[in-house]
Amino acid sequence: MSWLASLANLLGVDLEQAVGKYKKGCPRCGKIPCQCREKPFAE
Ligand SMILES: [Zn+2]
Repeated sequence: MSWLASLANLLGVDLEQAVGKYKKGCPRCGKIPCQCREKPFAE
């Protein structure tokens, strides 16, 4: 996993933060899994 972390660092991505986002759910719709694409015009 260390190689992946190094790669993430190279890309300027905080791996832990990215994973944490998806653990909580989508930052936009808050759903797990993300439903932004499933219901683009949900109301
Ligand atoms: Zn979403």
